[in-house]
Formats: sequence, structure tokens, C-alpha cells
Amino acid sequence: MKTNYISQAEYCAEYMRYLGIAKTERRSYAESVRLLEEAGFRELSTFESLKPGDRVYRGYEDRTVMAAVIGTKPIAEVGLKVVGGHTDAPRLDLKPRPVYEKGGYIYFDCHMYGGIKKYQWLVKPLALYGTIVRKDGSKVEIAVGDNPDDPVFLISDILPHLGKDQAKQTRDEFYPAEDLDVIAWSTYKKDEEKDGEAEEKEPKADRKGFVEYLKSTYGVDEEDLLSAELEIVPAGMPREVGFDRELIAGYGHDDRVCSFAGLKALIDAAGDVPERTASILMCDKEEVGSMGSTGMQSSFFENTVAELIERQEPNARDIMVRRALERSSMLSADVTAVADPHFPDVNSTGNEARFHKGPAASKYTGGASKSGSSDCGPEFVAEIRRIMDEGGVTWQMAELGKMEKGGGGTIAQYMSRFGMKVLDMGTPLMNMHAPWELASKFDCWQTYCAYSAYLRS
Ligand code: MN
Ligand code: MN
Repeated sequence: MKTNYISQAEYCAEYMRYLGIAKTERRSYAESVRLLEEAGFRELSTFESLKPGDRVYRGYEDRTVMAAVIGTKPIAEVGLKVVGGHTDAPRLDLKPRPVYEKGGYIYFDCHMYGGIKKYQWLVKPLALYGTIVRKDGSKVEIAVGDNPDDPVFLISDILPHLGKDQAKQTRDEFYPAEDLDVIAWSTYKKDEEKDGEAEEKEPKADRKGFVEYLKSTYGVDEEDLLSAELEIVPAGMPREVGFDRELIAGYGHDDRVCSFAGLKALIDAAGDVPERTASILMCDKEEVGSMGSTGMQSSFFENTVAELIERQEPNARDIMVRRALERSSMLSADVTAVADPHFPDVNSTGNEARFHKGPAASKYTGGASKSGSSDCGPEFVAEIRRIMDEGGVTWQMAELGKMEKGGGGTIAQYMSRFGMKVLDMGTPLMNMHAPWELASKFDCWQTYCAYSAYLRS
């Protein structure tokens, strides 16, 4: 097998750069498409027919993308190799009517997205990213909080001096989700506007000033926020952790760490024409159950395979798509939990993932009784073992955690229903779903090597 992997240092520098840009699924999408285009990939709709070696991608709603290097054998006959990850990450979304005032402040009302521990989002600098669409269809891109000159946003918490009652409450109780709202403005209403009004005990926020600021800065009215997708994410760039700098703290490793590894692996492999078409998926909405038109419970993947086959077969029929799906195989490229010495009780002892030992393959995910798991067959696990050996990849086999402590899932369960062979394989993380997650540089790099080896096999 040809294995011209780039070095760990080069790979991690590229990944950290990507992670700093890709703070939302739309930004991941835009940067991924930019990198694909730079590497000679073209939007599938521009192809009338496909030949071996063609580099194509198909995007959907600016949030989900599939890319492929067309193989020498027809997709209808041999299916595809897929590395499939997701680019959405846990966060806070702005509600459709987000602006409210309380006690002299203007807040953005937020709605949780994905599995977060609420307290982790308190009292830290937060950034605002997203897209506002005006009625005429024109769009305004918002990115506030990551340039040194930008303001940031913050959710307040009570001071310890007065936190006696709070300390008695449980983790889930003490900060209601409805209060996870960021301060957007703190200037009071100007005195001249109060003429004639009786002096109030509680000051009023200068809502007029806030609305004028939105209009003059972004050219939008408050009403335009009705048609917006605005996300609150941690402010700040990925950082190296520890004096040896072997860990990366970053927002959204889950699952940009695997998605980017797949993207980079496909781009690197694009020069060699494979027998079986090599492809990647960078999808949306995994953190909320893969729902919606850009999630993997949608028809996007099937439809894209049908579009590919239609350009390879003059007499394409639906049965060819079904056969191709069944003959495909996939690495479900999603993260798993690494053993944390401070929480040994949740480890599946002897089966836990460790840092610096490469990506972790999981035969199954799910809960205590494997509920919600696709449980990969041993034949495909053996095939992957062989491919990893041939590719010189360091990897480990692991379970997410101890039975009866919880559980988790990936897109594997939705992809395997086509009859595809699917194995979970991704980068282990510490404090997954926290505003700052930890990954090992070596593991990030070996994840890319693993996907490269699979796509080139
Ligand atoms: Mn994930
Ligand atoms: Mn997740």
C-alpha cells in the first residue's frame, strides 16, 4: 500500500488551523468545500458523466457534504468506501426571537443544542457565529468574538459569597436551561428618553440603541433575526496543552477531528485512482439524533449515491443504487471517550481507550445492553485490522465506557441499515462535549493515517 502520510507536526498544524475556523457546521462546510476545490474537486452537478479519477463533491444546504474520488470499477458493482463523520458540535443556539431585556440588560435567549453540561458554559468568553437571511434572500454572515478587537458574550453566575442555596442543588438543577442566556448589551436607556416618566427603581436597557447598533453594523432589523441560524460557541482558538505540547484543547473536536482527518485523507489520496470509489461524508445534526434534511437519517447519502451512479451508467436503475449501498463499507468516523484518571469508575476496565495509542475502533456503541448499536461483524473488523497493519497505523480497540454508566451512538446505526458494513473508528477525547475538549496530537495524526490507509486500500 502507498502511504505517503504527511508528518504529525504538519498535520496537527493544519488541523488546528481548520478547527479555529470551523466553529459551526456552516463554517466547517465552507472551509471544507474551499479545501476540496483547491484540490481540484468539483460540484457533482457540473458533471454529465463520471470517469475514473474524477474528483467530485455534493453539498447540501451549506451544512452537509459528500466528496469522492471515482474508482476504476463501477459503483453499481462494487459500492463505495466511505469515511463518515459529522461537523456539528454541542453549543447554544439563539432562539428565533432571541432579544429580551431584564433588569437593565439585553440578553440573547438561547436554546441548548446537543448534550451539554450546562454549568460548563457559565462565566467564560463566548463567541457568536451564524447567518441571518433577510426576506429578499440576501445573507449576512456573523462572526463576533474571535478577533482580538471583538467583544465576547458571557453567561453570568452567582458569586460564592452568596451561593449557599445554589450549592445545595444538583448539577442539572442549579442553572435552569432557560437562564443560559448571554449578555448582549448593558447600557441603560438614555435620560432624555425618560422625560415625563417617573423615576424607576430598576433601570431599563437601551433597546433603541441596541437595535440601531444591529442596523448600522450588520444592516439587519430585529425582525430579520426570525430567519437566522445563530450559534453561541466558546471564544478562542485551539491551544497546545502541557509543557510537552502533546495535547490539543479545542472546541468541537467532536467531530471535526475525525471529519477533517477524512477530508485530508481523501484529498491526499486523490492522486491515485482507487479501484473502489473512495468517499467521505461530513454531515450535520449528529448531536441531535441525525435528524433533519442534513442529518444522516435523511436521504442525502442515498440520493448522492444515486446521482453518482446515474453519471456512470447509461441505463441506471434504482436496484443498482440499492446494490451499491449494500456493497459499500464504511468507517464511522466519530470520537470516543478516553480514560480519565479522575473518573476511573466509568471505564470499561481493560477495554478503555488511552491517549497516544491512536484512533479507537469500537465494534459497537449504544447503551448497557448494546441498545441502539449496529455491532459490526467480525469479518469487517478483521479486514480493517489487516488494512491498518498494512498501512502501518497505530490504533486501539475500545469501548466507550462501563455498562450501566450511560452510553452513546454515532451515525453508524443509520448507515448500516443500507446493508453496509460499518465500523466505528475515531479519535479518543477527554471531556467530550465540554466547551474545550482534549485530544492527543498523535491520535489526531494517526486517525488521519487510518482513514488514508482505508481509503487507499
Ligand atoms: Mn460525535
Ligand atoms: Mn457528540
